[in-house]
Amino acid sequence: MADIISLLPDHVANQIAAGEVIQRPASVVKELMENAIDAEAREIQLLISGAGKIMIQVIDNGMGMSSTDVRLAFERHATSKIKSANDLFSIRSKGFRGEALASIAAIAQVEVYTKRAEDEMATCLKISGSNIEGQEMSVAPKGTSIAVKNIFYNVPARRNFLKSDKVELRHMIDEFHRVALTHPEVKFTFIQNGSEIFDLPAVSFRKRIANIFGNKIEEKLIPVEEITSVAGIEGFIVKPEFAKKSRGQQFFFVNKRFIKSPFLNHAVSSAFHGLLRDQFYPGYFIYMQIDPKTIDINIHPTKTEIKFEEEQNLYAIIKSMVKHSLGMFQASPVLDFERDPSLDIPYYFQQKASSNMPSIEVDSSFNPFINSERGIPKASKSKWESEYSALEIPNDNNADEDLKLAIEQSPKVFQLLRKFIVTTTRSGLLVIDQQRAHQRVLYEKFLTSITKRNMVSQQLIFPKEVELTQQQIALFGELEANLNSMGFVVKLKDKILKITGIPSICDDKKLGKLFEDIFSTPDDYEQVASFSQSDYMAKILSKSLSIKGNLTLSVLEQQALVDDLFACKDALTSPFNRKIFINLDKEELEKKLD
Ligand code: ADP
Ligand code: MG
Repeated sequence: MADIISLLPDHVANQIAAGEVIQRPASVVKELMENAIDAEAREIQLLISGAGKIMIQVIDNGMGMSSTDVRLAFERHATSKIKSANDLFSIRSKGFRGEALASIAAIAQVEVYTKRAEDEMATCLKISGSNIEGQEMSVAPKGTSIAVKNIFYNVPARRNFLKSDKVELRHMIDEFHRVALTHPEVKFTFIQNGSEIFDLPAVSFRKRIANIFGNKIEEKLIPVEEITSVAGIEGFIVKPEFAKKSRGQQFFFVNKRFIKSPFLNHAVSSAFHGLLRDQFYPGYFIYMQIDPKTIDINIHPTKTEIKFEEEQNLYAIIKSMVKHSLGMFQASPVLDFERDPSLDIPYYFQQKASSNMPSIEVDSSFNPFINSERGIPKASKSKWESEYSALEIPNDNNADEDLKLAIEQSPKVFQLLRKFIVTTTRSGLLVIDQQRAHQRVLYEKFLTSITKRNMVSQQLIFPKEVELTQQQIALFGELEANLNSMGFVVKLKDKILKITGIPSICDDKKLGKLFEDIFSTPDDYEQVASFSQSDYMAKILSKSLSIKGNLTLSVLEQQALVDDLFACKDALTSPFNRKIFINLDKEELEKKLD
């Protein structure tokens, strides 16, 4: 029998190896951006078209390459970053394997322009499927531009494997975030199909986080810091009440490299223990400097996992560091129902009730915040009402001055700009966003009714009919049970959905919009998938049915909303994680008037 073993031709070997390094457009983004950082660029531009499937281009103003080096750079194991195996233990650069460019060139069409400061002319190199198609002198500024076109054009199986544009774009944005968060000193821009989606000037870590995740995040960050012989650590954690239902704000960096570490993530999560609601994840941006000799970044081809020599110690250090910072923050909160509920009671009951009122029966120990989980009031409305009436309809004509005072000082509410409700508290005042407050109230009502299946329906005099598309019919099948338990009476016949009953708290004028919202395809599948369906439904309904800004409310309505809000399990944030109110206490006011 003839010999059967032969060596694979280079381009085939390259293609196979490329699969390790380049899985999707986002891998190209990562490798090219990291090369630009390694080349000491101060400005990096990322240009994408067709979700990276048509083109990914990275332009940097780094050190550039000579005309010989640029050619070598595309050979497998060609790297300027290490020279011997020993260097592996002192790596400070992002790359070191010399595989990325070779892998990219194996599976795409690549066009490079590069120029060093000392060279007069730039080099232009074109490679496609590992074949050099041409190299010539050219004109270009100092730095390097690498355009990668038609990724996997020669590996149809992989190209077909790519996900939707949306998903691929999401992955690219994630990679972009990771690199940009690691290097706030570098200016980054991200242009997608000709429009700019990120423009990040060179700033501090804190500002970079804000520029990426929105300025609002800045005030939600608590700094963390710890310097030990094991590691130098600094960064930020996100205040517990702003935790998210996704893991989108969890970042560890080791020696300026984004890493994933379920183990260290556990350290942070356990420090947050008891401060987060179910299914909420802490947010953190933690930067570690660790002696490269004590870590091994070599265990994963895409290098996001890492082995620490001092794993256990690092765990303990991170946990106590986060706990410490949370403690410092908890000790001086702006508004924190958990520490001392009596301090922030937004009403006068306690104070007044304890004064001398012999003829009136008032429970001096009444505290609306007691008996509530997490210190947030859960007292039912009827309890509140009875307490009010005890004060408002005195059964004793000899009510003394103290009582009159108590009535005067009972909760005052007024509406501001037809958008906010302002109410007094013992220590100052609360400014409540009426829409968010109402969303929270509705959300909790719907959620309870779904779980308890006890929503009261009202019958429609004129049943409403909605025609559904095929897709919506499928969706209806999934939502039907929940719709019923929320108080909707609906029947699907042929493609027509007939609505004969709706929850009593639902305004039939808003019905059209509501069903539009329920059946519109959710625009963030990943998010919806991570929530339970009832949560998703309760959210849609609360959003659709809530009062909006720009609506005048009567004093009674305002008061009822405030009461309902503070009877919620979570009065702090809307179902969409926005702050519901701000608390202006005496100190704050005095500070502002200083
Ligand atoms: P690695 O980064 O692991 O060294 P790569 O294949 O990513 O391997 O890059 C090979 C070499 O090409 C690098 O070591 C570097 O010398 C050079 N190089 C790549 N990209 C750039 C760039 N943007 N600017 C300057 N040199 C670069
Ligand atoms: Mg590299």
